[in-house]
Amino acid sequence: MEINVNKVQSFKGGLTPKILNDFRNINVKKVEEDFSSVGVDARFLNNKFISGSSVLVANILNEISGKYKLPFDFLPFSIRAYDDKNLVCDTLEKCRGFCITDTKCVLNGEGPFIGTSLFFNNSLLKFPILESINTTINALLNNMSSSHFLQTFFHEWFHCIQNNLIYEKYGYEGKCPVLRAKYYKPEANGLYITQEKDVITNFLLNPQIREQVCKFVSKYAGKTCLYSEFFAELMSKITINSLDSKLNPIKNPLDNIPKGLPLPLKEYVEKILNI
Ligand SMILES: [Zn+2]
Repeated sequence: MEINVNKVQSFKGGLTPKILNDFRNINVKKVEEDFSSVGVDARFLNNKFISGSSVLVANILNEISGKYKLPFDFLPFSIRAYDDKNLVCDTLEKCRGFCITDTKCVLNGEGPFIGTSLFFNNSLLKFPILESINTTINALLNNMSSSHFLQTFFHEWFHCIQNNLIYEKYGYEGKCPVLRAKYYKPEANGLYITQEKDVITNFLLNPQIREQVCKFVSKYAGKTCLYSEFFAELMSKITINSLDSKLNPIKNPLDNIPKGLPLPLKEYVEKILNI
């Protein structure tokens, strides 16, 4: 699977009146310029929620990276807010967001995008968020690793971080000229690894292990049986749990890894993070 997908979800946690107010006052054009100045091609369709959340997540991960010496300071090549009607592939409709591991055309009239770009759904992730909660969405809410409003953003960002770490370590051998220039290694198999054909092992398909993943990470991670979804769900959960109510990182996220998580899964995270 090349594109990692989340189901529609709404949020309960973390949105304080102050943060809501900051979001309402955000200048989206200025945020796009700020991202552009650090090499990120960002277009947010004037969506204050997506642009504000993207800034928060980039800043929080950068701070955690410096404070706890973790490789979280990766920025995606592109960030896009999109409308469902502009998707090339309708299987992505009603998703909150997705990440591409390799170059791909995903939006009509744009792209192809560079691998490790991020996409967020303009109609699902917007104000008034709180009014958008309904029974269907609430039923899905419990499937993800956190109900915090930044969960989607951390989740997708960690897909990018994981791809970057895999490409740095194992190289990139695909067609994307930008990724080849950045990560190319002869006889590399990084792209193959991100596509997960060789990392979906019997381990994650073991019913007892899946039960543990559902219990300690999320139902979504346990159901998908993909290491990348497990990684994005675990990392978003432990990162969110390391923030105070003002979104300051006050703890090393790795200290929040659940003690009961099966050892091979802990070892997989350590291997990806190179620790
Ligand atoms: Zn995902």
